[in-house]
Amino acid sequence: MTLVIGLTGGIASGKSTVANMCKEQGITVIDADMESRDVVEPGEKAYDQIIEHFGKGILLADGTINRAKLGEIIFNNKEERMVLNGIVHPAVRERMNAKKEAAAARNEAILIMDIPLLFESKLTNLVDRSLLVYVDETTQLKRLMERNQYSEQEAISRIQSQMPLKEKRILSDRVIDNSGTPEQTRVQLYRILKEWGFEEKKED
Ligand code: ADP
Repeated sequence: MTLVIGLTGGIASGKSTVANMCKEQGITVIDADMESRDVVEPGEKAYDQIIEHFGKGILLADGTINRAKLGEIIFNNKEERMVLNGIVHPAVRERMNAKKEAAAARNEAILIMDIPLLFESKLTNLVDRSLLVYVDETTQLKRLMERNQYSEQEAISRIQSQMPLKEKRILSDRVIDNSGTPEQTRVQLYRILKEWGFEEKKED
């Protein structure tokens, strides 16, 4: 049995950092954002369905979907957003499930699904456990400004457009506090993974 862990966080909370630590341990990490980009590539069923509904006007010159334009259409239109989600979400779920089956066939003890909107998109039914990468607000703001070269105002408005990490804490099975050093984060991660049945790779 492969235990599926839903890894989530908020912008610049350190989710990618933790996902990389898992990969270094040889753990399979499925990236939901990457999968959702892949399912709308030409040749995919979702690609055809999107054109059928939204028209060829949402294509770029090279035939790929203009994600920015599609984003604009659905941003202020709940019905269109639901149509798009109804096309993309099942396709993503199918792909993630296939990868999960493959990991299970390889007898991997655990599998990470990196899902930024695990709670917002109500995807917790895809996973056995949820793991939140948390940071305090001051650290989140500072790291986001540094990483993206945002002004304080730009960073604040991006943080505020998301579900607060304090709320996600309540919804998560376990929380890693990434406000400290990467080493402190690694210690917390390994402890939780061990609890969930994963044996850490030893240096030799
Ligand atoms: P997310 O994937 O959640 O958006 P990242 O993993 O990219 O966040 O981390 C945000 C930024 O903070 C990156 O620039 C990263 O290098 C830095 N960072 C992450 N964790 C730590 C840490 N524990 N100490 C210092 N910097 C960190």
